[in-house]
Amino acid sequence: MTTTVYREHCYTARLVTARKRHRCSIRDHYPYPCLSAVQPGEQYVRSVAFPGHDAVGGTRPVVHVVCVNCAVNYIGLDRLAAEAQS
Ligand SMILES: [Zn+2]
Repeated sequence: MTTTVYREHCYTARLVTARKRHRCSIRDHYPYPCLSAVQPGEQYVRSVAFPGHDAVGGTRPVVHVVCVNCAVNYIGLDRLAAEAQS
């Protein structure tokens, strides 16, 4: 099993295989709204921002499911997407 991880300050994203259906979290996010879902067995990027990251206002980590099609649009996540598509 491949473990591909991207890290930044207070942030981790890793490529994982879905065990159940997930909605892509990017559906509400400008500029790349996404209407797709990740099906069981498909790979997606599990994005976790920890307290201290700009995107986290509270004291709990913020988790996003990012489908491969969306991941290509984000620096860092694009490498994970390339891994998923290889
Ligand atoms: Zn998506």
